[in-house]
Amino acid sequence: MVKKIKANDPSLKSWLEISKESDFPIQNLPFGIYSTKNKTKRVGVAIGDQILDLYQLLKLGYLDSLSFCEHCFSNEYLNRMMGHGKIEIRDLRNRISELLNAENPELFQNKEAIAKVLDLQIESEMYLPVKIGDYTDFYSSEQHAFNVGSMFRDPNNALLPNWKHIPVAYHGRSSSIIPSGQDVIRPKGQQKLDDNENPIFGASKLLDFELEMGFITFQGKPLGNTISTQEADEFIFGMCLFNDWSARDIQKWEYIPLGPFLAKNFASSMSCWIVTLDALEPFRTAGPIQKPKILPYLEYSGNKHLDIELTVAIQTENGAKKVVTNSNYKYMYWNMNQQLAHHTVNGCNVNCGDMLASGTISGPEEGSFGSMLEISWKGTKPVKMPDGSERRFIQDGDSVIFNGRAKNKDINIGFGELISKVLPPK
Ligand code: MN
Repeated sequence: MVKKIKANDPSLKSWLEISKESDFPIQNLPFGIYSTKNKTKRVGVAIGDQILDLYQLLKLGYLDSLSFCEHCFSNEYLNRMMGHGKIEIRDLRNRISELLNAENPELFQNKEAIAKVLDLQIESEMYLPVKIGDYTDFYSSEQHAFNVGSMFRDPNNALLPNWKHIPVAYHGRSSSIIPSGQDVIRPKGQQKLDDNENPIFGASKLLDFELEMGFITFQGKPLGNTISTQEADEFIFGMCLFNDWSARDIQKWEYIPLGPFLAKNFASSMSCWIVTLDALEPFRTAGPIQKPKILPYLEYSGNKHLDIELTVAIQTENGAKKVVTNSNYKYMYWNMNQQLAHHTVNGCNVNCGDMLASGTISGPEEGSFGSMLEISWKGTKPVKMPDGSERRFIQDGDSVIFNGRAKNKDINIGFGELISKVLPPK
């Protein structure tokens, strides 16, 4: 059990005005990298519609009780700060919570300091928050694996025999992970049409999103060591929304025998705020009963899944917008602890700033599927847009918008929007 985290107290109120609808109440305090007209890139914490500048906060002496240095915050990535590990980041988040607390006059009464440490989000630019070392993409939603298996193989044998024993994954390409707001260029590649003997070359016609969440790790253990499901929480910094862009036509032709390659490595998009696992602790929930029995190294105790509501909207170039799915991270079959334990069970290392993505998160019924492949069922059930057009897959000029929110009767912990626009190929 995690001991009570002070910053998570639902009764806390900030001296800042924060809308009830905001993704960023005082109980969230996610980390990101931002700049403004007058400020170079630095570490910030989202609060309401503003950003708290940790570099300025440190310079003004408000973080003197902690062991962070200027380089931790005057940095274009979060990695150096993350190098301090779970406990010190928890102390940092608790301290920030204290400074924003309505009952603490420390910062609130210093108008000069407030002017230096707060920036409006609309006047700030956000960046890729983490220098991502290695990137792994899992395939951990049973409904997604079932849907894909049903479409491409056989509904009676939709899951491959290993699926309920292994959190299946592949290594992806970290250097093409891009932040929210950066456009995605439609990929070109080989495709093999059903009626043709030979492949053709051209722009992908079946460009798709995959609704996923990613988690970012702290420094793990050296090669040859393993992280147990019990230890896993201590190695997880936080989570973001993640869109594993997929060109289905390229994927279908290339993926046997070694899995995805050019169908996915052209871009993956992540949201810019990393919500700490600490902030998500109040939203723990039980996972599915795993049958057949899993091997002992994958067993875990306690609630290790998370209840996070997820939506995807498509917005056309003329502004017609439609929510095409409502899913939830709790639908995962394998949780993060199991993924990390499996990833390291062979002695594979994990480093500070690695990205481990969930795989497409599909809920149990229509309306909760996590990709257009499933929503349009291979293109057989087009989605009607408000402007009368139809979508089977994503078209040039479309923006794909993910949102995520963990909520209970007291608070909403949001992730900020993940938005990406698709441009025609070069
Ligand atoms: Mn994926």
